[in-house]
Amino acid sequence: MAQSPQHPRQPGPRAGLRLMHVHAHPDDESSKGAASTAKYVAEGVDVHVVTCTGGERGSILNPRMDRPDVLANITEIRRQEMERARDILGVRQDWLGFVDSGWPEGDPKPPLPEGCFALVPLEEATERLVRLIRDFRPHVVTTYDERGGYPHPDHIRCHEVSVAAFEAAGDPERFPDAGEPWQPLKLYYHHGWSWAKISSLHQAMLDHGLESPYADRLKDWEREPEWEERLTTRVPCGDYFGVRDQALLAHATQIDPDGFWFAIPREIQTSVWPTEDYELVVSHVESTTPEDDLFAGIELDRLAETDTRESA
Ligand SMILES: [Zn+2]
Repeated sequence: MAQSPQHPRQPGPRAGLRLMHVHAHPDDESSKGAASTAKYVAEGVDVHVVTCTGGERGSILNPRMDRPDVLANITEIRRQEMERARDILGVRQDWLGFVDSGWPEGDPKPPLPEGCFALVPLEEATERLVRLIRDFRPHVVTTYDERGGYPHPDHIRCHEVSVAAFEAAGDPERFPDAGEPWQPLKLYYHHGWSWAKISSLHQAMLDHGLESPYADRLKDWEREPEWEERLTTRVPCGDYFGVRDQALLAHATQIDPDGFWFAIPREIQTSVWPTEDYELVVSHVESTTPEDDLFAGIELDRLAETDTRESA
């Protein structure tokens, strides 16, 4: 497990709070929750991104970067892209050290490649994440929902590992060699692609006489009211959409500057949907939903009484 240099923490009104995002691949931290990450960093929160795999099997999705020399060095290039995004977002980042499972293409789908993240025994991956949780001691952890956000095998595995580690980290009987127990207080899932958000952005594009990138997606969208009601938490972060976009662009092999991610003008995003959205799944503190803050119910001054060890 490679330890990356730690990003110096910024002073701010919320210094002392710690947030951990667990993601499957380099670029996921920039495409999911990046603006709320930047907002919390600006407020002094210490944010730690854990990247489960190196993204070795990702395709090159930016035509400018689709070159043999890039493909031949994709592992190293994605590592450098991640370092740039880390610095833009102002987070610490660690690799969990597993190999990308790839997106299985074909019907029927081919078997997953030997040794990939999705095939590693759950306990092994969980122990590695428990170790990072006990070391960083986050108050809040985020991950994907049980469908993975989208059904990439690494995203589903990332969900399973995160949920298992969130439960195990505070239990002294689980993984006793992986550090002193630490129980994070809240667990969230990302909900970045709600029908309400996508249909609102779609309508705003049409109202401005612009072409919406979501027409086909919405035509086939089978709404699921129970799923939609799971969203509990909308974090206002429109002021940080620019930072999010810079972090996305740092992943130059994955993100086409002329493509999908930038199809909606930022002003429309900021006026129509200036939040990033989450589902509160587990809470060990009193908090009432709906919320607008991942740390709702977590009081810094009360933490100080129980949290005496200076954070690493
Ligand atoms: Zn991913």
